[in-house]
Amino acid sequence: MDYKTVVEDNIDVLVVGAGLGGTGAAFEARYWGPTKKIVIAEKANIMRSGAVAQGLYAINCYMGSRFGENNPEDHVRYARIDLMGMVREDLLFDMARHVDSAVHQFEEWGLPLMRNEKTGAYQREGRWQIMIHGESYKPIVAEAATKSADKVFNRICVTHLLMDESKANRVGGAVGFNVRTGDYHVFKSKAVIVGAGGASNIYKPRSVGEGAGRVWYAPWSSGSAYGLLIGAGAKMTQMENRIVLARFKDGYGPVGAYFLHLKTYTQNAYGEEYESKWFPALQEMVGKEYLDPEASHRTHRPIPTCLRNHALISEVNAGRGPIHMVTMEAFQDPHLEEIGWHNFLGMTVGQAVLWAATDVDPKYENPELTTSEPYVMGSHATGCGAWCSGPEDVSPEEYFWGYNRMTTVEGLFGAGDAVGGTPHAFSSGSFTEGRLAAKAACKYIDDGKAEGIVISDAQIQRRKEEIYKPMETYRVYRNAITAGTVNPHYINPRQGLDRLQKLMDEYVGGVTVNYMTNDKLLNIGLKKLKLLEEDWENGIAAEDIHELLRAWELKHRIMTSEAVIQHTLFREETRWPGYYYRGDHMKLDDENWHVLTVSRRDPETGEYTMEKAPLYHLIDDEE
Ligand code: AMP
Repeated sequence: MDYKTVVEDNIDVLVVGAGLGGTGAAFEARYWGPTKKIVIAEKANIMRSGAVAQGLYAINCYMGSRFGENNPEDHVRYARIDLMGMVREDLLFDMARHVDSAVHQFEEWGLPLMRNEKTGAYQREGRWQIMIHGESYKPIVAEAATKSADKVFNRICVTHLLMDESKANRVGGAVGFNVRTGDYHVFKSKAVIVGAGGASNIYKPRSVGEGAGRVWYAPWSSGSAYGLLIGAGAKMTQMENRIVLARFKDGYGPVGAYFLHLKTYTQNAYGEEYESKWFPALQEMVGKEYLDPEASHRTHRPIPTCLRNHALISEVNAGRGPIHMVTMEAFQDPHLEEIGWHNFLGMTVGQAVLWAATDVDPKYENPELTTSEPYVMGSHATGCGAWCSGPEDVSPEEYFWGYNRMTTVEGLFGAGDAVGGTPHAFSSGSFTEGRLAAKAACKYIDDGKAEGIVISDAQIQRRKEEIYKPMETYRVYRNAITAGTVNPHYINPRQGLDRLQKLMDEYVGGVTVNYMTNDKLLNIGLKKLKLLEEDWENGIAAEDIHELLRAWELKHRIMTSEAVIQHTLFREETRWPGYYYRGDHMKLDDENWHVLTVSRRDPETGEYTMEKAPLYHLIDDEE
């Protein structure tokens, strides 16, 4: 069982994971590095990979500066309020000032953007969101990236980054395997941009049985954005900021177009408005600065996403569930009815199918809403990810170390879910982040920072043995199977994933416990996670290449989960009611926790260190 080794050498910019972040990186790297060797390694096929694979009906981050709609400062204020203050304003501002040009390019490349017939501006869904016919969004963007790259390696699951042996803390490439042929792939590169995805399926999902593949974020998002970076010793930030989504029940259909464009609203089982009822108590928890419905109304700023969740969760707990989305009014208008269905057909077909299959017609029945299990990602209303340098003209000293979007590992950059502190980037913002990272990566190379990288054959061989070990474990012990998949010598990836999901759910604030946790629960969770990690190291078995993929996805999910637990333990307050609650610290505590949390896992020892980083408000409150 010796798989072939395929080496791709002399790469300048290696893009790992080509969702929207990675495609932006490849595209921009070609602009700044016309003669550079640019290579993409992608787990699926770039034409249909990442969170945008099945299409989108809206681009949720567009300033519209050319139409006089918003400026980047406005977007920073919006994201800051939505995240209860916890954002990297330098990175957000930088993304917001460049995002419109990315959207204009998408249109040039053939993405149909809807236009407002009266004004000629793009059709708005909400203040930040524009509407698109986006079923083919990903293939359109992928084509630009494909044409920009020298080579695209599809079906490569990247498991580890390669580290330079001549200079500590400097990256030198990546390794992985082809999920179809099993070949071992080595990429030696001067700079690496990680554009891999956030994490679904680390918390036990509400969906069960045959529906278990139905989740909010892409089921293939295995936390590699974090697993790869943490494994290389990069610092992470805001990993406690897992997101919970209010969604149409069981199909996870998105609500943005309904709330914002169709102007639907929610009510409890008895037809009552319930949100405002919870606001006085909530204001006690978080303070008026963070929840002021009057001011929100005046400034058209939405109530923070987590606080809207809190009202929904509380109302259901009070026995007045389920919560319904009132669609029956909007759906009387044939145009809005069509938009309502198109919205799902263009990006969440499953919700439309589910309604059809379960006889739910939103014209005659108000569908149920519920809150999802938590997800770890960095581009929706949450900002998990790596602690990255900002741009030189905006970032204060603590946020700047030479190259925009470079992690704390030299030559290692992030984009999309990989970069921490930049929520509300969505697809267009992630692509923009990829562009910014690639520009900086090219400069890093041109500045001579990547000279003399040494990757020994020993490192390459060591990783190879490590990668295929689960198959070896299976080969050695398969005869000891007692029944079905039960074997006293090993666990398989599905068994490991079940263990992970159960412990994250029960100890780290999943749905079963209504998103509640505390220091005691977190410590038990951490202990169980360590045992799971040990079992993974000593005895995860893979029957075939497909299971090998699942084994490595599980590994990245475990590493992501550990960071979530460590960060959640560290932040002794309840910053985002509705995302999770620290039962032992039920209030938001600005005196001690008006900070960003930063962690590092020592790649040699596995020890975590946690620190507080300053939270700078660089944009004033004025509008
Ligand atoms: P979603 O469909 O929930 O993924 O959201 C799409 C966009 O709409 C994102 O920019 C959300 O932040 C925004 N959004 C969703 N629901 C609301 C709401 N009730 N109020 C304001 N913005 C919302």
